[in-house]
Order: sequence, then structure tokens, then C-alpha cells
Amino acid sequence: MRVALFGGTFDPIHRGHLALASAAASAFALDRVLFAPVGRQPLKAESPPATFADRLAMTMLAVASAADPRFAVSSVDAPRPDGAPNYTVDTLAALAREAPAATLFVLTGADSFLSLRNWHSPDRLLELAEWIVVSRPDFPLKPEFLTRPEFALTAAQRSRVHLLTTVHEDVSATELRQRLHAGDPCPGLLPPAVADYIQTHRLYR
Ligand code: ATP
Ligand code: MG
Repeated sequence: MRVALFGGTFDPIHRGHLALASAAASAFALDRVLFAPVGRQPLKAESPPATFADRLAMTMLAVASAADPRFAVSSVDAPRPDGAPNYTVDTLAALAREAPAATLFVLTGADSFLSLRNWHSPDRLLELAEWIVVSRPDFPLKPEFLTRPEFALTAAQRSRVHLLTTVHEDVSATELRQRLHAGDPCPGLLPPAVADYIQTHRLYR
């Protein structure tokens, strides 16, 4: 079983998230992509505008609308009872305990991977899972990407990081929140069920 953790704030989940998950699942023969909204992202200073419950609900609607049998939603990264940040290294360790036979992957956009050395226990992260890093407009993935000195990756670590350069989705949740705030329903960038949820629950006003 090849299982990928796809964590994000998903505030809101958008077309880019679904496109990258689908492309990665096909390119790397993933059996399961776990969309896991994060309770508290350690590297984001401000707390997300939408609550975890709303972000989880939108993720469920988006995954249901994608109707991709490889996709599932997980609350493995739900807010910690003590309010502590959610560290991916803990999440992966929990997944590894739950499914010891699974080969674990982490799915991430190139912009997130750039901060790898600021994540908690980066070397352990590369031991626990293989990584799939996906291109994003303004964050192109050239072949020499992984040899950037700031990553400080050994050859063995580099061999556990795979690049997927075929995704070109020019959309971000930051831009969507601004447009939604201005009254634009952002057609085409959000699954219709997510757009409806945002209107009904008056999010991002
Ligand atoms: P925000 O603007 O609030 O940071 P976002 O659009 O970056 O939102 P996140 O929830 O932060 O969405 O992203 C979750 C993961 O998906 C991250 O690894 C991010 O790099 C990746 N990702 C998000 N949008 C894209 C995109 N358009 N193309 C490639 N990767 C993306
Ligand atoms: Mg982001």
C-alpha cells in the first residue's frame, strides 16, 4: 500500500490542491492520498481565518466532488487538545504505527518544501517518508533544485525526494480569500460544493 499524507491549511481547499493530488497519485502509483487539514500550522504566524471544523467540512466536500477512489480525508492533524502546533514528524510517526506495512509519502508544493529546514526534525521526516514535491507557478522545479545548499540534503536523502514538474495551477488560498472577501465567488477555482459552503456559512466576508 502506497499512502501519501497531503497536509495543508486548506483555507479554503481549491482546484490546485485537487489537481496536484491527482497528478501525484497517477505519477507515483499511490493507492491513497490522505487530505489532512492541519489544526495549527507551526510555520504560519496567524491562525487560519476559518475554523478547523469548517476547513475539514470543505475538504470533505471537495474530496467527495472529486470522486477519485484514491482520495480520502483524515483528521489525523486535528488541533491538539493542549493547543500545541501540529508537527508533520508526529503525524507521520502516528501513520507509520497505524499502518506499519505501508510505504509512506508526503505530498507538498515546491513553496512549502523550500522551508524544509525550518520544519521540526527534517532528517527524521526524510526517514519516515518519501517526499513528492510538486511544481507551482513562481516556484519552478529545475533538476538542480534538490542540490540547493539550504536544503543540505545528502545523496541518500535526495533519492527519497521526487519532483513532479507537470502541475501548473495558478491558484492560492490567499488569493481566493481576498477575492471572496471582495464578493467574487471565484468560479472554476473552487469545487461548486465548496463555493456553496462558503456562501452558506458566510466565510471570508
Ligand atoms: P495559502 O495561500 O493560505 O498558504 P495555499 O494555496 O498555499 O494557501 P495550503 O493549504 O497552504 O494552500 O497548501 C497545502 C499544500 O498544497 C502545500 O504543500 C502547498 O505548497 C500546496 N499547494 C497549494 N496550492 C498549490 C498550487 N496551486 N500548486 C502546487 N501546490 C500547491
Ligand atoms: Mg500555502
